[in-house]
Amino acid sequence: MSIPRILVLVLIPVLAAAQGVGYDDTPQLPGQQWKVHDKARPNPPVVKPGPFSALPRPKDAIVLFDGTDLSKWTGRGGKASWKIENGYMEVNKTGEIATRDKFGDFQLHLEWASPVEVKGNSQGRGNSGVFLAGRYEVQILDSYNNKSYADGQAAAMYGQFPPLANACRGPGEWQTYDIAFRGPRFGDDGKLQTPARVTVVHNGVVVHNGRAYLGGTTHRAVAMYGKHGPGPIKLQDHGNPVRFRNIWIREL
Ligand code: MG
Repeated sequence: MSIPRILVLVLIPVLAAAQGVGYDDTPQLPGQQWKVHDKARPNPPVVKPGPFSALPRPKDAIVLFDGTDLSKWTGRGGKASWKIENGYMEVNKTGEIATRDKFGDFQLHLEWASPVEVKGNSQGRGNSGVFLAGRYEVQILDSYNNKSYADGQAAAMYGQFPPLANACRGPGEWQTYDIAFRGPRFGDDGKLQTPARVTVVHNGVVVHNGRAYLGGTTHRAVAMYGKHGPGPIKLQDHGNPVRFRNIWIREL
């Protein structure tokens, strides 16, 4: 008996959607029931944040970006070349940028906005990221009505842990990350003693509560630690015109 062709045409997209977005050929995450970027991993609940509010900058904060210049940043060829206008900077396909200074344990505030014009889907929509100590990514993505794998959506510890909630605002709206980070500690033998830990507040919603990284951020691979000290704050150029403003840091 053959299956009616019309039924096949209807069922293929339905089954594909039910399977989710992501991978099933990636390695197992240590200590978890999921694979890296697991398409079967449930997405966290959507939590609507309150009205925009930014933490006032404490007196001892180091201003990394005040909307006017990139003097605290470096990029390809030693120069940060992202576009600056109207008090924000915008990713412009000139490569990632990194702070000239390095930080170990810190409190970081930053504001970002995904493009008003919605283009692409999943990881191709409003993708950027902030890398702590140069290697631990807190994902930036337009996760507003944009399905992607759970450990890759906005505020995910990319490839390791989804956020506890999807607190994303809509395209073009300013969003806040407030991040407390404690770098990893290594013995003289280079062995990991305590992992890097992060607390992330996205638009006023706690989305990681002192969670330990499994290692430096990877794609489609299991993260591992290698001995390192303080590192720069890096912002990712993933080819999408994501905007940033009001970035400050306090060393802890
Ligand atoms: Mg990213």
